[in-house]
Amino acid sequence: MEFLQPPAWREALEARAAHPDALPIWGGTDVMVELNFARKRPAALLDLTNVPELSRWHAEDGGVRIGAGVTYARIIRELGDRMPGLAMASRTVGSPQIRNRGTIGGNLGSSSPAGDALPPLYAVGAVVELASARGERRVPIDEFIVGPKRNVLADDELIAAVWVPERADAAQQFAKVGTRNAMVIAVCSFAISLDDEARTVGTCLGSAAPTPRRAHEAEQFVAQELDWAGRAAIDDGVLQRFGELVAEAAAPIDDQRGSAAYRRHALNVMARRTLKWAWDAA
Ligand SMILES: Cc1cc2nc3c(=O)[nH]c(=O)nc-3n(C[C@H](O)[C@H](O)[C@H](O)COP(=O)(O)OP(=O)(O)OC[C@H]3O[C@@H](n4cnc5c(N)ncnc54)[C@H](O)[C@@H]3O)c2cc1C
Repeated sequence: MEFLQPPAWREALEARAAHPDALPIWGGTDVMVELNFARKRPAALLDLTNVPELSRWHAEDGGVRIGAGVTYARIIRELGDRMPGLAMASRTVGSPQIRNRGTIGGNLGSSSPAGDALPPLYAVGAVVELASARGERRVPIDEFIVGPKRNVLADDELIAAVWVPERADAAQQFAKVGTRNAMVIAVCSFAISLDDEARTVGTCLGSAAPTPRRAHEAEQFVAQELDWAGRAAIDDGVLQRFGELVAEAAAPIDDQRGSAAYRRHALNVMARRTLKWAWDAA
């Protein structure tokens, strides 16, 4: 197997164009599992860890551009105050070793419906920046992932970064159900972001449909029902209906981790709890 290790972004894009069959690798926490189980046998690996541009983040235009090579450990340490939902989700990923190694770009690249970084990114309408030697393009995250472990990345493209809108007053929450507390793939998960200024609600359910999925009807319903001006406590009936609408938005399957019925039930509970936590905190 060839091993390509470009020293900078331009060289990485050129290597990608010259070797479209090379598999990009950053932390390797998904790629190495695939190789070890012989599920993939790429002609070459394109190691991006020496590309300094990928490991940077910066604030710009009311948002934050997070390079694809930023790890979960750094999101928790450096971005927890700016994007609390993403940091909460990052804390639930794997173990300290996986959080030190695994990246947001790798979670996007794998495009698993169970990827924990994805629901908080959907809930705030993040945009994925893709690049190739031909140029750059930006794709809304819900158009980037098109099926289980499938995305629109072209053979000569790399994920450069993800753009996350920053709302100083946004109240965000993330909840995940697993078969144990750590080192576990989500049975299902739920992210919510309340935007006080725009008076909108963003949500996303994970591991409960072929892709992470926003519960649009639930978002619209609750945004109308919340007492944004008076900040009164949320009515029980509203919480109830919100939970039901979130569960209805799911298209879960029965598998070894949980039944479809259990996933819908858990989503209903997580939706009600996280909405209440976010509203009370705000
Ligand atoms: C023990 C263990 C526990 C785990 N627990 C969790 C968990 O709790 N939650 C969770 O969501 N995930 C978990 N994972 C999966 C994994 O850690 C995450 O998906 C992580 O984000 C992958 O990042 P990485 O940098 O290691 O990606 P890699 O393995 O290097 O790459 C993953 C995919 O992304 C592609 N890729 C990477 N970077 C780029 C780029 N810049 N451009 C284009 N394509 C790219 C690769 O080609 C590959 O297809 C776990 C894995 C292990 C081994």
